[in-house]
Amino acid sequence: MDPSRELPDLMRSLPIDRHRGLPIPAVTARHPDGQPDFSTVDGREALRLASEGRCGICGNPLDSQIAFLGGPGAVAARAYHDPPMHESCAEASTILCPHLSRRDMRRVTDRRSTGVLPRNSAEEKPDRWVMWICRGFAAYVIDGMPLFRPAPYLRLRTFTYTDGGHLHETPDTSPRP
Ligand SMILES: [Zn+2]
Repeated sequence: MDPSRELPDLMRSLPIDRHRGLPIPAVTARHPDGQPDFSTVDGREALRLASEGRCGICGNPLDSQIAFLGGPGAVAARAYHDPPMHESCAEASTILCPHLSRRDMRRVTDRRSTGVLPRNSAEEKPDRWVMWICRGFAAYVIDGMPLFRPAPYLRLRTFTYTDGGHLHETPDTSPRP
């Protein structure tokens, strides 16, 4: 697959990781040598972008509708570690991000990064990902880590793994708010 075909226009200005050929999200942490650490969100950058009303993936100003992406636990707790983003950027992440798009791809936590949160460090990889689409959020810092509380959702979009281990969107069966 040519990842550039799946790239929303908003993400086209992002730097491309030369090893993977993938755009580097705005909140992706960096190793001291400048290489991206795709396993880790830079918490300070996530908070900074969110406080400026910018997307955690592409860095551009958010729309009136904001998307969060996480597992069922995030939905139940209404709390996300990953920052707010455009719906189109969240959708692209379900296709481009190896950790999301492939069930069997394990995210390796890299200890060279400090002061940042390994994504989903508190839980095994979820069997589904839920996109929470809403119109606002609050940001907190808990134990030095950012935590985002989205406004009540307008829509939920659910993504599950096929038998082959690829993530795809399933029809929304969630109750309406
Ligand atoms: Zn974006």
